[in-house]
Amino acid sequence: MYSSYHENSFSIKETRGTCNACKQCSPLGACVVFLGIENTLPMLHGSQGCATYIRRYLISHFREPVDIASSNFSEETTIFGGEKNFNTSLDNIIIQYHPKIIAVASTCLSETIGEDIKRFIYEYKNLHKKNKKLPEIIFTSTPSYKGTHYSGFHEAVYSVVESLANEGGNCDNHINLFSNFISPEDIRHLKEIVADFGIRAMIFPDYSDTLDGALWDTYQRIPPGGTSINDLKNSALASSSIELGYVLNLDVNSSRLKTNFLSQSAGEYLKTKFGINLYRIGLPVGIRETDIFFQLLSSISLAKSVPEKYEKQRGRLIDLYIDGHKYVFGKRVIIYGEEDLVVSLASFVVEVGMKPLLCVTGGESGKFKNILQCVLSNSFSNEIIIKQGATFEQMENIIINSEIQPDLMIGNSKGYYIARKLKIPLIRVGFPIHDRIGAYHNKLLCYEGTISLFEQIVNALLEKKQHNSSMGYKYM
Ligand code: SF4
Repeated sequence: MYSSYHENSFSIKETRGTCNACKQCSPLGACVVFLGIENTLPMLHGSQGCATYIRRYLISHFREPVDIASSNFSEETTIFGGEKNFNTSLDNIIIQYHPKIIAVASTCLSETIGEDIKRFIYEYKNLHKKNKKLPEIIFTSTPSYKGTHYSGFHEAVYSVVESLANEGGNCDNHINLFSNFISPEDIRHLKEIVADFGIRAMIFPDYSDTLDGALWDTYQRIPPGGTSINDLKNSALASSSIELGYVLNLDVNSSRLKTNFLSQSAGEYLKTKFGINLYRIGLPVGIRETDIFFQLLSSISLAKSVPEKYEKQRGRLIDLYIDGHKYVFGKRVIIYGEEDLVVSLASFVVEVGMKPLLCVTGGESGKFKNILQCVLSNSFSNEIIIKQGATFEQMENIIINSEIQPDLMIGNSKGYYIARKLKIPLIRVGFPIHDRIGAYHNKLLCYEGTISLFEQIVNALLEKKQHNSSMGYKYM
């Protein structure tokens, strides 16, 4: 059985402030979405430091140049407001970058002093209404003290669709695939899958080239690639939308409703406003969740059967599960990261006979436990420790106090120091991964992604066993 730990039965050392949060800042998530749109420059309304921190984080993970403009708050702007800086920033971006879209996200500071950014945009557009080359200006509200990089990501997906989706025209039989915060490699994989089903899809956001491009001969200020603006405009003409993930930006916390967040996903917006069918399923990791995704694609593609290529991949995955089962069965796992990622990984972990002892997220949607319960179904146990809105410090205290003795951690590189202390392997998935290269090439989704994940897990466990063996061995 799982550990009998219950949160209330131990005194967990709580810090007064948040220390080493299991999340990143909201506008960071928004910037990833903006970088997945054709010819778009992200801009933060706030201090230079916010843009620098976000650029630093994204560059370390994706290993690509990332430009993020800033309205560059100073002491004076903080007191008297930043409209003048905002307008100057837009002027400079238009002159230097010639973007088709300037996508603005707010920051803690601009939200705290109550900047009315929608009004700034309205007045700027009004002032320049005779300029036919004025780019689209999109705004997403991302006060980081209210959310995470994950909620910021989905707020941006929502705002972009709300701003660009155009009424008019006939349904053109494509689908909208809102693919969630996944790696560039997984975006490419999803594109290949939907194309193999004969489905035309708008995948959004698509940073598979902009954040994982080839070498350039000459520097390009805005990298080529991204979801086309035309496709985003036509998202209102789709036959249906698929959202991968159950939590997205759908927060049940009433406190969130007090902000100008709209607790509605992009798919829900298109359904409510334009009557477009919405299918929401989990991130397809493992056989069960991938089967659901493939069945959905089959039905959307007018009963086209699953291509043989994927039947074979599924078969190879089952064969691999059989090969590796004896090494993973009963292993005790800690999973942490974005809510939807943790849910999908927990589903995979129980599918292969491992035990998710501790599921941790920095998100505070209020839906984490219920969704885990639903997805794990009969495999759910009340003895799984579930913590939302958590810090790494709290996570470490839980592990120490509960004596759960994990065999493995799965999550981003920020948990490495805990894995090091515990002397257990860390399988790096999600965001950020700062201590390895190639995070952008991690394939996690569908049968092929699961093959890669399962092999990493088995090999990490084998390596530890081999390393700890007094005599060592070269054959098994
Ligand atoms: S101040 Fe807020 S918006 Fe800026 S980097 Fe920090 S958390 Fe992000």
